[in-house]
Amino acid sequence: MTKAVIELENVSLTLGEGASSVHVLKGIDLTVRQGEIAGIVGPSGSGKSTLLMVLAGLERVDDGRVTMAGMTLNGKSEDEIAAFRGRNIGIVFQSFHLIPNMTALENVAVPLELAGHPEPFRVAEQELVAVGLGERLTHYPGELSGGEQQRVAIARALAPSPPILIADEPTGNLDQATGRQIADLLFSKAAERGMTLVLVTHDPALAARCSRRIAMRSGRIETGETEDSGPALAATAIA
Ligand code: ADP
Ligand code: MG
Repeated sequence: MTKAVIELENVSLTLGEGASSVHVLKGIDLTVRQGEIAGIVGPSGSGKSTLLMVLAGLERVDDGRVTMAGMTLNGKSEDEIAAFRGRNIGIVFQSFHLIPNMTALENVAVPLELAGHPEPFRVAEQELVAVGLGERLTHYPGELSGGEQQRVAIARALAPSPPILIADEPTGNLDQATGRQIADLLFSKAAERGMTLVLVTHDPALAARCSRRIAMRSGRIETGETEDSGPALAATAIA
């Protein structure tokens, strides 16, 4: 068995103030091991995105313990968490979140540069070529299709070589064929690099290809605590 790279113990989180506060996560226990591809499914409002925010260290928990890639995030300063995230966690969003006035190359290179990488533009170009965008380096997001924009976002997430990749409905804004290509890309990059991938999806076909499914309902995990609860189709699909 590979080592645990994500460990949540009894994690609880309430968001909002006063009468409008919501108990979003209610005692989540979750272990994800290196190389797993975990698909989080569940109805809208069940807490999936919030759980990913907790994994990314973008949301602090009220109770419980969060350990990512061997570092316990509880009690760490914002700066420590930001530095940790930059090196260890790649994030892909449904709506791409690219910077509109930067080219594809700059969108990938500038975060690397800010993190003090010695060769940000060389690595950024390499990553964009690896996601099939070698011909689009100087295009701006507005000049790219949705699928191409998501490829830039994936290149940006992969560029620091993080051990963990998290993706919140990465195919949610794409047509079915494009979504399928983006899923193939994510699965193949994760497998190639031995990364752990946690993704939220509403697409049953995509969930079925994960090595493991985690079902959320009303802030709790319903199933998926058994290891290898589903067929590891992700690996075979890219073979
Ligand atoms: P999902 O991604 O599964 O659709 P979310 O994690 O986005 O669910 O949200 C879970 C619940 O938390 C929802 O009921 C949502 O309205 C609530 N919520 C999320 N963020 C906040 C916030 N900042 N303040 C109050 N409630 C919030
Ligand atoms: Mg969501």
